[in-house]
Amino acid sequence: MPTAVLERPTVETTKDAANHPVTKITNATAEATDQRSKKFVPDMVFFEPGALEYPLGKELYARYEQEGIPIKMTTSHNQVRGIPGETDTEQYRNAKRTLVVGVRKTMKFEQSKPSAEYAIPLATGCAAHCHYCYLNTNVGTKPYIRVYVNTDEILAQAQKYIKEREPEITRFEAACTSDPIGIEHITGNLKRTIEFMGEQPLGRLRFVTKFHHVDSLLDAKHNKHTRFRFSMNADYVIKNFEPGTSTFEQRIEAAEKVARAGYPLGFILAPLYWFEGWQEGYTDLLERLSSKLSDEAKSDLTFELIQHRFTKIAKSLILARYPKTKLEMNEEERKYKWGKYGKGKYVYPDLKAHALKAHMEKEIQRLFPMARIEYFT
Ligand code: SF4
Repeated sequence: MPTAVLERPTVETTKDAANHPVTKITNATAEATDQRSKKFVPDMVFFEPGALEYPLGKELYARYEQEGIPIKMTTSHNQVRGIPGETDTEQYRNAKRTLVVGVRKTMKFEQSKPSAEYAIPLATGCAAHCHYCYLNTNVGTKPYIRVYVNTDEILAQAQKYIKEREPEITRFEAACTSDPIGIEHITGNLKRTIEFMGEQPLGRLRFVTKFHHVDSLLDAKHNKHTRFRFSMNADYVIKNFEPGTSTFEQRIEAAEKVARAGYPLGFILAPLYWFEGWQEGYTDLLERLSSKLSDEAKSDLTFELIQHRFTKIAKSLILARYPKTKLEMNEEERKYKWGKYGKGKYVYPDLKAHALKAHMEKEIQRLFPMARIEYFT
């Protein structure tokens, strides 16, 4: 049950010299620690009629009705109309405070390289405001938070994928389109999925979070089939670019709890970002991680390293939504990396990418000699 409301940032829209709207978000970038620690409660909830045919859909309807949160119906979770806001930016911010409860119809799981074979679709969207988040473009026009109530059907589909790949192990990533811990108090779907994978000899689950609300998962029967990862970063990045998420201290405390509960633990250090003093910043991050984690937590640890990247579309959306961001996205200082379907992105030029990689690898080996670095990308 939700316990508190993440305070809504104050949005003030003015015009610049060229008469373009400029939005000032007064408290989003200066998230206070206490705000960061609260669980998300929506301002408004939409339901697809079909969702009410499932026990979880009925339960959520009754919960929000009882809490007095405005409820509306929508014909499809993909086309929600009526989110208030006079400007695009206002609508965007209100959408991130809107929950949509629907039925997942597409049962074709996307691929999720390099960390897993498939993305398991438990939810889409996130209430936090990380400036660099790829959801800015991935869910572009639909930033509201969609949760799905037909969990059994989604898990049955996962079982089919596992069967197809026998005798290989099949890994599922649950954080491709949302932060699953950020909404776990709403649906409990992650715990169901963890326990489902716990029973699958050839099924594995992994996800990553920037939230510390892990208590409901500590007694899940995971059977060590779920790798619980936390997204960590240097102070500079957390403070400047990750409003609405849990603090470093909260995440590390949660990581310790998760390790004590016997989960294999991992850290995704992303985005690795080039800022003045980045070497000291990342060394400090790893030293703090090392000093706070027990030997037991360090005994089965993975690191995934992802350098900062952006596309042209992402850049324009980020600048429209977070106009005061300090996020550096200068194409001239980047290398263009071609991707699938001719769509590329801007990454760091080789010299910088190699320096980031070398520094991180050296420090991880120094501080976590037993850990495995899964990839740098
Ligand atoms: Fe995106 Fe994760 Fe930040 Fe949510 S917590 S906005 S999913 S990067």
